[in-house]
Amino acid sequence: MDFLSEIIGEAVVLSIDSLILGFCVKQLSKCKHILNALQTAPVLDIDNNLKKEIQKYPNHVIPYVVVRGLVKPLGNPITSNYNQSVTGVIQRLTIKEHVIARTSAGFWSDQTRTIHEACNSTPFVLTDGKYSIEVVDALAAELLDLDVISDKFEPMSPGVIDHVWGFFSGVRQRGLQTMEEMLRDGSYITAIGELSRNNSGLKIQPPRDGLPLYLTTATKSSLLKRLASSRDLLRVFLVLFGAVAVIASGRIAHKYIKRRRRRVAEEHLKKQLAAGRKERRAQNRDRNLHDVQLCVVCTDNPKEIILLPCGHVCLCEDCSENIQDTCPVCRERIQSRAPAFIA
Ligand SMILES: [Zn+2]
Ligand SMILES: [Zn+2]
Repeated sequence: MDFLSEIIGEAVVLSIDSLILGFCVKQLSKCKHILNALQTAPVLDIDNNLKKEIQKYPNHVIPYVVVRGLVKPLGNPITSNYNQSVTGVIQRLTIKEHVIARTSAGFWSDQTRTIHEACNSTPFVLTDGKYSIEVVDALAAELLDLDVISDKFEPMSPGVIDHVWGFFSGVRQRGLQTMEEMLRDGSYITAIGELSRNNSGLKIQPPRDGLPLYLTTATKSSLLKRLASSRDLLRVFLVLFGAVAVIASGRIAHKYIKRRRRRVAEEHLKKQLAAGRKERRAQNRDRNLHDVQLCVVCTDNPKEIILLPCGHVCLCEDCSENIQDTCPVCRERIQSRAPAFIA
């Protein structure tokens, strides 16, 4: 069995594990980066002082800042499709299909698939009543807390054909879920992002250096807690998958060493057997030979091997083992050799 097939299990585990490890490391460093940025991000009120505060920063840009205020549309708000009295600035419509699907293990399990998602938004500001900050590119927010306005589930009543089809295809329809979520007009939210100033006023937008924009109902401290707990979870994963990697590589190394030892032992045994054979040959040889009957190399043992294709019988078996390329008599390339019996 070759070495690769011997360690195939460990190799598969190790390669999958290193993919997961790489992902965890990346997520962890991202999480730490956000955590650090958020910890040092100033919490500012939307008031008259904000314009003075922003002067202190280079280019009048605060890279990461936390502000809280009321959502107010700049133009006409979006009206809910399901409730005419609700208006907002961001609307998300999702249609999900609920199915019962047979898993590869043979169980039936509930699954949901998003089959349609649409977002609408209208420009809006965060305000304290008097002063305001425009929120730019709100749909790019990594965390976007929306209120659920409507959530309807329409079950499908399957007929006989659906049952039969479901049995063979492994998927049974259960129904459709239609959901409408909105960032409501007048809700009080926290925005975390890059604050800058232009001619028309202040605006907050997704930061440039890979930090996320947050539009959330949570406060800075609860966000920090959330981030810290996901950092801790990632650390646990890192330790777990790291341990798996160590065990798998350990097993590969162990198998390799074992294989090496086995090889060395086999080699040693072969040498011992060859030496034994050589000794037995020496004992059986006829010692009263003419010069012409002796090997041309060692002139000690009898000629025992025929070289092909040249056909010269000029070597004993021992010397033949050491001569690989050409016949010592005619220099022709040796292609094969056979024992010669001279009667
Ligand atoms: Zn010889
Ligand atoms: Zn020859």
